[in-house]
Amino acid sequence: MSELPTYGFTTTILHSDRQKEIEHGSVHKPIHSSVMYGYKDARDLAAVFQNKQSGYRYGRQGNPTVSALEEKITGMEGGYASIAFATGMAAIGAVFQALLRQGDHLVSSSFLFGNTNSLWQTIDAQGVDVAMVDATSVEHIAAALTPATRMVFVETIANPRTQIADLKRIGDLCREKGILFVVDNTMTSPYLFQPKTVGAGLVINSLTKSIAGHGNVLGGALTDTGLFDWAAYPNIALNFRKQPAQMQGMSQVRAKALRDFGASLSPDAAHQIAVGAETIALRMDRECANAMALASMLEADPRVAAVHYPGLPSHPQHQLATDLFRAYGALFSFELKPEIDCFDYLNRLKLAINATHLGDTRTLVIPVAHTIFFEMGAERRAGMGIADSLIRVSVGIEDTQDLLTDFAQALTA
Ligand SMILES: *Cc1c(COP(=O)(O)O)cnc(C)c1O
Repeated sequence: MSELPTYGFTTTILHSDRQKEIEHGSVHKPIHSSVMYGYKDARDLAAVFQNKQSGYRYGRQGNPTVSALEEKITGMEGGYASIAFATGMAAIGAVFQALLRQGDHLVSSSFLFGNTNSLWQTIDAQGVDVAMVDATSVEHIAAALTPATRMVFVETIANPRTQIADLKRIGDLCREKGILFVVDNTMTSPYLFQPKTVGAGLVINSLTKSIAGHGNVLGGALTDTGLFDWAAYPNIALNFRKQPAQMQGMSQVRAKALRDFGASLSPDAAHQIAVGAETIALRMDRECANAMALASMLEADPRVAAVHYPGLPSHPQHQLATDLFRAYGALFSFELKPEIDCFDYLNRLKLAINATHLGDTRTLVIPVAHTIFFEMGAERRAGMGIADSLIRVSVGIEDTQDLLTDFAQALTA
């Protein structure tokens, strides 16, 4: 779509704003705080409202600073278009508000981010039938499909147990059946993996995590990869059908989810996320290397019962992760032997912070069953393979030896 030469991942992020449209030579896209946009000719205002002319109308539906970030995310995902939201959950919610109707069927991985699991209960109560299956094998997805299945939803690497969805085969199955394949790419980020390469039609990123990267701003994005044929999707309303097929999905999401529900990203947040995104490759290279070092050290220790990290050859989907991802991610989880209490262990860590969140520059730890997965209850936790002693580690960019020393000293009471 762009006339610029094709640069590498980081070069593209760094120079995209400047090369597109230089406002006073500004290297960063400026923060446009105006909520309304004035037109000299009232006919232009009308043309914008009638989608006959491009332009901004009101901040809830679009903003130049937010648009620049959306274009950056589209570039990172190799997609067709993106819409930014106030949070990652708003981006996930948008898919269902805008694209699913009562009586539709959704097949989802059962290894899910906790709040997505909770959202599924909400939409199930509102009349969308949700089937949860083990997505590490395409056969489970295929067996769950019904004539009403509109969408298959998976995460790349599941948090906290790091199960990896059978991404390529699920993508092939969805293409063959004409079903929309939606991938939450938060745990890998577009730096480690582009879901477009396995046939995803829509990609979700929580920008709060690795893309912004510094735990100081919330955001989310939905990217249309351009692969899905919206002309064949039944739930597109008549007024969006008038648009070219490629635009129909995102136009409906922007109107029905962003405009009508209003979880819009602020221009200030968009600016902070864009600055964070400049260093994602550098941060993730370091985080993934640190995660590998820590996971390897813990796995070799007799006081540790289990370590779940796709980078370890013992991980059930290690080969799949090797084939699909640039590196194995910045998150792992582990279980201590019963003689070490997980709370005591966490309290002995001097560097790692007891906090929820992931994809941050600082290493964060959390006892999963007692916090983020507490609400769902013991039975559902068991189904997701979450032991009571499971500790999740989101690995930061600290110096490797400092992390190794910290996690090792905490093993000794
Ligand atoms: C954090 C997260 C989300 C939600 O993102 P927020 O920005 O916190 O709303 C969604 N999916 C996954 C996999 C996440 O880790």
